Amino acid sequence: MTPTPLCRLCELQGNQLYVKRDDLLPFCFGGNKYRKALRFFREIEDQHCDAVVTYGTRHSNHCRVVANMAAARGLECVIVSPAGAESETYNSRMMRLFGASFRTVPVEAVHDTMEKTMEALRRAGKKPYLIEGGGHGNLGTAAYVDCFREIAEWSVEHGTPFDLIFHASGTGTTQAGLICGKLLRQDPTEIIGISIARRNPRGRDVVLDSVRSYLRAAAVSIPEETIQNATVFLDDYTGEGYSAASPEIGETIHRMMTEHGLPLDTTYTGKAFHGMERCLKEQGITGKTVLFLHTGGTPLFFDDLNRTGL
Ligand SMILES: *Cc1c(COP(=O)(O)O)cnc(C)c1O
Repeated sequence: MTPTPLCRLCELQGNQLYVKRDDLLPFCFGGNKYRKALRFFREIEDQHCDAVVTYGTRHSNHCRVVANMAAARGLECVIVSPAGAESETYNSRMMRLFGASFRTVPVEAVHDTMEKTMEALRRAGKKPYLIEGGGHGNLGTAAYVDCFREIAEWSVEHGTPFDLIFHASGTGTTQAGLICGKLLRQDPTEIIGISIARRNPRGRDVVLDSVRSYLRAAAVSIPEETIQNATVFLDDYTGEGYSAASPEIGETIHRMMTEHGLPLDTTYTGKAFHGMERCLKEQGITGKTVLFLHTGGTPLFFDDLNRTGL
């Protein structure tokens, strides 16, 4: 895969800010869910599966990408979705466009429904493949070990090492991959996940579990203390949780789009970018070289534009 663009954006509170554009990955509006899904679809092809079952809401970037990748390969795609958030978004409209079918169930029935859907497809003579919501799991983590390698190689090539990497952290897979990449290379760059929904200690524990799971599977032994020190998951900027955007986040999105042409959304990247700005200020961080990893979500930028006229 060609590395995604990485470029200097601006000075930010006395720091040099760079951005890595995983939102520009070249398939279906890109994003971290595409980088992860590529790994899952490689396995789907190796195992000759002919149907995909996954989980997500109508807002899900993951389900949009998976539905498109399934359609492109002629595979059936079933999306199990929690009841209560059925309003259409650009993502859900695209999922329909790609011919995915939805099974909408109460959130506590999601796990069972995924299993039952898999069984029903098998009984119908299909060979289905299950992708965890958000592309969670060691394959998803591996995708972001790759991304960290791209960043490290860019740094060497340009003589610009990063002190800090900030990004939006949800299921924690993206962050776990970056952390594993850092640990495997013994790279001093600090990775700071800005939680978009989960609270600590659970949020950070999920990242730690993903890190340990990946390292175990890779048969790499790293001291627990090193893993703990490398895992920074901040829930100070999460607000009221998933999808809740403050006016300050709206202001950040408006400013970044106007001054730098950088689209951010209220659920993930705008919240994380705003969290990064506050974190730099509150911790008095200056004189550093900082990277913001743009994890995608372009369709959400347009939902926000319709909803709030940002
Ligand atoms: C899913 C998502 C995230 C969070 O990624 P995780 O690997 O689940 O932590 C961040 N940004 C965007 C745009 C996403 O769609």
